[in-house]
Amino acid sequence: MHGLMMDAPLLISGILEYAAKYHRDTEIVSRNEDSSLNRYGYAEAAQRTRKLANALSRLNVTAGDRISTLAWNNHRHFEMYFGVPGVGLVLHTVNPRLFPEQLVFILNDAQSRYLFADACFAPLVKGLRPHLPQLRGVVFMCDRAHMPEGFPDALCYEDLLAPESDLYDWPQFDERMASGMCYTSGTTGNPKGVLYSHRSTVLHAMGVNQPGLFGIAPGECVLPVVPMFHVNAWCVPYAAAQVGAKLVLPGPRLDGPGLLEVIHGEKVSIGAGVPTIWLNLLNHADQAGQSIAPMSRVVIGGAACPQTLIERFNAHKALTVHAWGMTETSPLGSISVLSDHHGSLPPAERMKLQLKQGRAPFGIEMRISGPDGKPLPWDGVSRGELEVRGPWIASGYYNNADRSQFTADGWFRTGDISTIDAEGFMNIVDRSKDVIKSGGEWISSIELENVAMSHPAVLEAAVIARADSRWSERPRYLIVLREGKTLSGPELKAFIAPHVASWWIPEDMIIVKELPHTGTGKVMKAALREQYGAEVHPEAVKLTL
Ligand code: ADP
Repeated sequence: MHGLMMDAPLLISGILEYAAKYHRDTEIVSRNEDSSLNRYGYAEAAQRTRKLANALSRLNVTAGDRISTLAWNNHRHFEMYFGVPGVGLVLHTVNPRLFPEQLVFILNDAQSRYLFADACFAPLVKGLRPHLPQLRGVVFMCDRAHMPEGFPDALCYEDLLAPESDLYDWPQFDERMASGMCYTSGTTGNPKGVLYSHRSTVLHAMGVNQPGLFGIAPGECVLPVVPMFHVNAWCVPYAAAQVGAKLVLPGPRLDGPGLLEVIHGEKVSIGAGVPTIWLNLLNHADQAGQSIAPMSRVVIGGAACPQTLIERFNAHKALTVHAWGMTETSPLGSISVLSDHHGSLPPAERMKLQLKQGRAPFGIEMRISGPDGKPLPWDGVSRGELEVRGPWIASGYYNNADRSQFTADGWFRTGDISTIDAEGFMNIVDRSKDVIKSGGEWISSIELENVAMSHPAVLEAAVIARADSRWSERPRYLIVLREGKTLSGPELKAFIAPHVASWWIPEDMIIVKELPHTGTGKVMKAALREQYGAEVHPEAVKLTL
């Protein structure tokens, strides 16, 4: 027997209209390219988004067409987040940091019809345009005065909106229709398109907003430093609008001073971003002797959160919330939020839990599987591939028949190797392609990196597998030193020895100037293995004399 309840579709346009109605004047503050700030309330944001909706309806597009953006976190991008899916088109956010060949591949694979770009990306657009035969137009997201030169056919965002009415009747359609699209970073081959739906996005925003997770609520002020071009900025724009929280969009200024300025000026209470961004912020704040208050909650994900980062935020009286996710998981898959009873644990035990990637929020199920595909126990020790399922997890890739990342019983295989303890705290030990198999046993590069990164001389550390004639693979440290610091092999060994099993300790390290990062801030381990993975390397320094 079916229930007798209304079947109202969960649509993204509904989130914006809700915010406009109940949180009219709550601000969205956005950093412009010239560093000035734009500010308006949700009501005005909705008015402009309705104008955008009217303008989009006049473009040469049909429902379901992909509209791409190349843009920083700013108010026009926010309007695109709601306007494009709202009218029934698909918002395809593109990461401008990817290599040009990848951008061409992504835009063509998505069959993008229009490209909306910040004016600062004009040189990039110029290079891409001749390779995008399916594209019907370029729109620069600025006013007439800031239109880049050399684009006679390009449209101007503000000119498009100006003549339009701010009334628009959002169409009601099946909530399972596609709303957004984001490509994986392609660290494992060509990027693959993940296609979100209205339903998955609204449910994910509600999932993120469950009490105690990101902490987004009315009265809070959220700063998504995580880019809007990557996995919906972790859904923060949607989640903030859903509860009427103030939103600060930092534009292109992601440096320490730029972030600290808006944190203080706008009274940011919650930040969300990858570890590297926060390290830059803390380095700046500490050097300048400034506090990061009122920011008191920092959501960290995208890469493992190092212990030093949690400790440094603790020193600033800010709570670190460590989360895990992927493009395919919208992205929230798990989050390390402690329960009341963890309060009585010794600080070192609590830290161990915070360093884990945490428990699945309601809505997501997770399990770990061994090489034979059989589920492994939740004992905190057994390691297997993490698999997830739920209403905001991808069920396939766009325009790609490859099913290798999906199990026969419908779970998504993440490619992350992890443990799950008896309380359900999941801990990523490695990506399956980065794991080090030494004599048939697994060594976690993440754990070794984490320990090394708490050494005062170390700025960044990566651990890769090097060839080994006896053990087949052994770990090798690649270390970037802090300015003016030195570190000997035995010093590093003495520092890490108390924290890891003795057979995990690498035999050598290589001091490098910097580590290569992907467009989404992850260390490019495959490139490092190629360069430094030989058994004997001339620059390797032994950890024992
Ligand atoms: P891609 O998979 O294309 O590299 P994503 O941004 O989707 O790009 O990256 C997802 C991956 O990032 C995860 O599979 C995991 O390996 C890593 N990751 C994300 N969050 C964390 C975290 N908190 N700790 C460790 N690894 C993480």
